[in-house]
Amino acid sequence: MADNWSIEDAEELYGVKRWGAGYFSIGDNGSIKITPNHRLPDVTIDMQEVMDEIIAEGIQLPAVIRFHDILRSQVEILNETFAQTIEDAKYNGKYVGVFPIKVNQMREVVEEIMDAGEPYNYGLEAGSKPELMAVLAYNENPNALTILNGYKDEDYLTLALLGRQLGRKMIIVIEKFSELEMLIPLAKKLGVEPMIGLRSKMMVRSSGKWAGSSGDRAKFGLSITEILNIVDLLKKEDMLHCAKLLHFHIGSQLSDIRKIKEAVSEGARLYAKLIQMGVPLEYLDIGGGLGIDYDGTSSTTDSSRNYSTEEYVADVVYGVKQICQLEDVPHPNLVSESGRAITAHHSCVVTNIVGEIKNTGAQFDITRAEGEHILVSNMRELITAADMHPQERYNDAASFKQSTYEAFKLGILSLEEMAKIDTMYWQILAEIHDSLDRETFVFQELEELEDMLASQYLCNFSIFQSAADTWAIGQVLPIVPITRLNEKPEVRCSIVDITCDSDGKLSKYIEGTEISDNIPMHTLRKGETYHVGMFLTGAYQDVMGDMHNLFGRLTEVHIYCHDDEDGDFYIEEVVPGTSAEKVLETMQYNTDYMAKTVKKWLDREVRKGKIAPREGVRWTDYYEKCLAGTTYLKV
Ligand SMILES: *Cc1c(COP(=O)(O)O)cnc(C)c1O
Repeated sequence: MADNWSIEDAEELYGVKRWGAGYFSIGDNGSIKITPNHRLPDVTIDMQEVMDEIIAEGIQLPAVIRFHDILRSQVEILNETFAQTIEDAKYNGKYVGVFPIKVNQMREVVEEIMDAGEPYNYGLEAGSKPELMAVLAYNENPNALTILNGYKDEDYLTLALLGRQLGRKMIIVIEKFSELEMLIPLAKKLGVEPMIGLRSKMMVRSSGKWAGSSGDRAKFGLSITEILNIVDLLKKEDMLHCAKLLHFHIGSQLSDIRKIKEAVSEGARLYAKLIQMGVPLEYLDIGGGLGIDYDGTSSTTDSSRNYSTEEYVADVVYGVKQICQLEDVPHPNLVSESGRAITAHHSCVVTNIVGEIKNTGAQFDITRAEGEHILVSNMRELITAADMHPQERYNDAASFKQSTYEAFKLGILSLEEMAKIDTMYWQILAEIHDSLDRETFVFQELEELEDMLASQYLCNFSIFQSAADTWAIGQVLPIVPITRLNEKPEVRCSIVDITCDSDGKLSKYIEGTEISDNIPMHTLRKGETYHVGMFLTGAYQDVMGDMHNLFGRLTEVHIYCHDDEDGDFYIEEVVPGTSAEKVLETMQYNTDYMAKTVKKWLDREVRKGKIAPREGVRWTDYYEKCLAGTTYLKV
């Protein structure tokens, strides 16, 4: 280990403990360490050992690794925090949360959450017909809630009533007045009594990327006028007793606790007024929004939050209690639809760096040639001008470079001269960068210079498949080397993916408590694979990805911790990623036809005697094997 570098330095640089929420840290061996079970702090998994096993089993990278124990821990922590706070506050209601499956619909994820949540009667939330069909089959606990949000048609409502027939607590949350007009005759016709929720459009404006979920122009929810009209209609139909729940959701990833407090008091006030009007509400559903500290700054940036789960829960429980006291109404049972907070930590994407793209990489022999152009000589003089003021030297280099381009367009410079100037230009920039004394010297273009000199590490994955929000909304996700963290990372680089899209890159990195345009990583070594992990991908990222460039879903590795096993873990299941064939088929290609076409052309060449028959068969087999294989780079 280098003297001037410690594990603490690595932890500080990549912010591992700040975003790791107790689950991630760096081991003494310089490898990422996972403590997946919040009740068993001594059971730890070494990520290097996980990688070794993945590779030994021949699993192709990139892969999603799911730590099921983290998922269970998050379910337990949320439920127990509510239970404890409710007890401390002498609050009369219970907490009966639901997991919104849109955040991660993977069957194994939903099953694990239901299993871990059983003791707490933790339920599920659906926001569409297919999600409703899934939760109907997977929430079998008659004491747990199933909350049904989103826009509804007659089938959606009928399926919800089917759930009532099965004895489930299915709550149909009315988003629009017309849904109720559809529901009432349907329920009467089928002779099923629905449980009804009302989604209120909130006045509080949340901040951040999902601010549009509240306010007058929100897509979802009922205005006060509409709520009163609904109450009237229910009364008229003798169905007011069906109104069980008041719901609001002001947005996801709420970064500022003040907005949460405001929303809670607005919602609780509305609940109280409705109770006073005789609406027999039993539940107050505060929606999602519990944030994740992705960038580890504990602040109100879009990728962070300025509160803990304990503070969030306390603000909800004490906030609702206080308003109920003031309004003299009973305490409602509390529901939250926390999705991000339950799943974000449990999965990560592991992959390898397959190459480096570097401006300073290619070298051309810069020896002086007889009669060379003045621009070449000028640039050469700058190489030896080490005593020159760095700013001046930088400006000169940039200006010669620009003149070179102009000269080339006029046909004055040869390709060799261009290559020489280019080689020298990058050499000069690197020298300026290395010689700068950052403490004392103010260099205006420092960031620009660092960005120009940064390498690009080509990473075997697709941003569009695995980290959609980094591309779409500028979300920060931690990216960290999996090993060698006991070595000082010496290369500044940015991470680019293997799609043919110049947008296919990560543009924000955690560097200490700052967000940078690039990040230090280790020098790549010949013959040694460099593994990196992208963390906190379990919420939305896992399931939102698209097939840009026809890169498919990743292979999944499901891991459980177990202290009797070597390394305290075992791989419970490997779910193969989407094959090239499957991805092509979703775009309506007929892969049988494709294979036959290639074979037809090969046969033709064989008949012509250009390819030996045996060789023809080998090519045919090879094409078919690639169709069945991975869409990512095999390395
Ligand atoms: C998306 C959504 C959620 C989940 O929000 P998180 O911020 O992930 O907890 C909850 N409720 C509704 C209505 C949603 O649309």
